[in-house]
Amino acid sequence: MISFYPGPSRVHDEIPAYVADAYEAGILSINHRSEEFMKISEKTIRLLKRKLEIPHDYTIFFTGSATECWEIIAQSVIAKSSFHFFNGSFGRKWFEYTSRICNGATPFEFGINDLLDEKEFKLVKGEGVICLTQNETSNGTQVSNRIMSGIREQYPRQLIAVDATSSMGGVYLDFSAADIWFASVQKCFGLPAGLGIMVCSPTAMEKATKLGERNHYNSLTFMAEMMDKWQTPFTPNVLNIYLLNRVMEASRPIRDQHEKIEKRFRSWIDFFNEKETIRHLITNKQARSLTVIPVQSTEELVTTIKTKAKKKGLLLGEGYGDLKSTTFRIANFPALKKKEIGKLMKFLSRYD
Ligand SMILES: *Cc1c(COP(=O)(O)O)cnc(C)c1O
Repeated sequence: MISFYPGPSRVHDEIPAYVADAYEAGILSINHRSEEFMKISEKTIRLLKRKLEIPHDYTIFFTGSATECWEIIAQSVIAKSSFHFFNGSFGRKWFEYTSRICNGATPFEFGINDLLDEKEFKLVKGEGVICLTQNETSNGTQVSNRIMSGIREQYPRQLIAVDATSSMGGVYLDFSAADIWFASVQKCFGLPAGLGIMVCSPTAMEKATKLGERNHYNSLTFMAEMMDKWQTPFTPNVLNIYLLNRVMEASRPIRDQHEKIEKRFRSWIDFFNEKETIRHLITNKQARSLTVIPVQSTEELVTTIKTKAKKKGLLLGEGYGDLKSTTFRIANFPALKKKEIGKLMKFLSRYD
């Protein structure tokens, strides 16, 4: 079965061999306070910074998931207020999770074909954390680097937190345009689930230090103290950190990766431009995600396509939330192979 699910997604072919290597080298049982672990952790962070062009002075943390990062931000960074701009299920969930922890979370919903416009934000400058979902996995939309930079320019002193769960590791992200970025590895990184990555600017760390919140096992100040020694406050997913290190070692620099993903994205766009009964859900070209392709059709046809695809060994991503019955999603993640995409295109080509 070839999985086109946008998370958990197809893992890299090399994963079983890397797991075998980890077993041979005794990594499955190493202590997370050992010298050996610290070396792997440090190397993984160094590789992430180099391959993804993350600024040197940003701090990288290992968490359990992207969901955990929502909570870490709410408990350790958002002092009073946060502003959540979203157009889909994941952005909404982030807002809801934050509301349970903080009183001052405000939602700003926008349409799936609208582009975020910072001139319409009208926020009190310098106050509150701006929360954005860079790649909305539920509906295949994105906030581009250009728009992110515009927001940064308009609000230079505001903390900006970004959910890049289904884009980090797949496309080029301008990390300097925001203060906190996070992802989990079962999307673009092509790894099994169970590890999150959180990237923080010096400004974000200063804010966390100033707040000094220390009530949780994953309070950011506590995480930072442990990260000084390349460690985590809890026993982390050591195997997955090792696998991430191997995948990063083998992966091309992010700009090359981006080029490949963008080229494949274009071929999907060309493919659906020729069709009538199945089409790209998002009509505004500039709002389209590069890594998640949402396809819309009638309820009947969506069911037929998903069932028939499965019989052919092609697993399509279910529609998400309100879009469940009338859409399916196709991951455009780096681990997918050209010939697998060809196979799916061939299968879909029987539909007009
Ligand atoms: C998958 C996803 C999440 C949740 O990730 P977990 O690893 O399950 O916590 C959050 N945000 C976005 C945009 C996602 O795609």
